[in-house]
Amino acid sequence: MRVFDSITDRFVPNTKESAQTYRNKIGIFQGWVSLLVNSLLFGLKLVIGLMVGAVSVIADAVHTLSDVVSSGVVIWGFKQAEKPADVEHPYGHGRAEYIATLIIAVLLVVAGIEFIETSIDRIRNPQAVTAKWWMVVLIGFTILLKELTARYAEFLSSKIASGTLHADAWHHRTDAISSLLVIAALIAGNYGYPAVDGWAGLGVSLFLIYTGFEIAKNAMDELIGKPPTTEEVESIRQIIMEVNGVLGVHDIIVHSYGHDKFVSVHVEIDAEKTTAESHDISEEVEEKLEKALGVEPTVHMDPVQPGNPLVQEVQSFLNHNWNGDERITDIHDIRVVQTENHHVILFGINVRSGMTQAQIVECCQEMERGLQEKFAGYEVNIKVSPLHRF
Ligand SMILES: [Zn+2]
Ligand SMILES: [Zn+2]
Ligand SMILES: [Zn+2]
Repeated sequence: MRVFDSITDRFVPNTKESAQTYRNKIGIFQGWVSLLVNSLLFGLKLVIGLMVGAVSVIADAVHTLSDVVSSGVVIWGFKQAEKPADVEHPYGHGRAEYIATLIIAVLLVVAGIEFIETSIDRIRNPQAVTAKWWMVVLIGFTILLKELTARYAEFLSSKIASGTLHADAWHHRTDAISSLLVIAALIAGNYGYPAVDGWAGLGVSLFLIYTGFEIAKNAMDELIGKPPTTEEVESIRQIIMEVNGVLGVHDIIVHSYGHDKFVSVHVEIDAEKTTAESHDISEEVEEKLEKALGVEPTVHMDPVQPGNPLVQEVQSFLNHNWNGDERITDIHDIRVVQTENHHVILFGINVRSGMTQAQIVECCQEMERGLQEKFAGYEVNIKVSPLHRF
């Protein structure tokens, strides 16, 4: 969309800052757009709701008010990420955003329950609801505005590939459903069916509670710790693979503290290199990641022997037999130890999430049997990475 593009460029000029800074700016900008649009809509709905005395309109207004506060929290979260950490909270204050969100969620659910009570009361004892037609038109206008905001959020989300903004767009769109109920209530009220207001109020209240649970769930997932997105992991992998001397990347861990992220990775480096050389490579990996993603990385170095013919043989055997296996997402750290009494093939794997312990054991045994058939006399040692490593 040309219009969306020029609006965005006007308010958030894409200068030569890092991609991370630009993402943050887009996030904050979208927060302000939501906040301003929803403030306007809240004002409209509240005034109309009070004038008409319709519970459905007032409940919808309260929902919109909660959206205003949520956007405020999102903006605050982005700003918080720019602030340096302090002695008591050395990981920054990013997670405070989720606690604030949880509080909003609780308030939403409580408000929803209150409105259910009022709505049921209105169903039992309907009160006259007579709306002027311009009010109905105005509520219709709020739906259009919501759809426009949703499309814009969708546009921004694809611009910076952000799941949060995508969720925001979805939220705007579902909000419109609740306003449709309100319109139905107002029209029905004008034609002599005032009880519809109570029913619509019930619908809006249930939606309020549902929204509360949804955002609470998301905030709790973040607090408990959820996996990084595939895009996040892939972009980290890509950046590291571009560094000279890196032969492989695995076991990527991302710890999120709101917008502050801490990353650790395993990097495969030729065992022939000196410690100093390897350290240089690891520093370069750290620098690149920090610059591109604004993360704080720790690099673990795994020595590999790409020149060892036996390792090459094991590697191609594993590639040939296990690369397409959907249970295994990565094979790494392939080494072969040959001493007088020890003949061992060692490597690590990452397994698809959702596999049971029994399935993992079975998978490892299959690999072991296959390898021992091919490389007689060798012990096989497979290390399975825990679920939080990608
Ligand atoms: Zn909403
Ligand atoms: Zn490793
Ligand atoms: Zn160092």
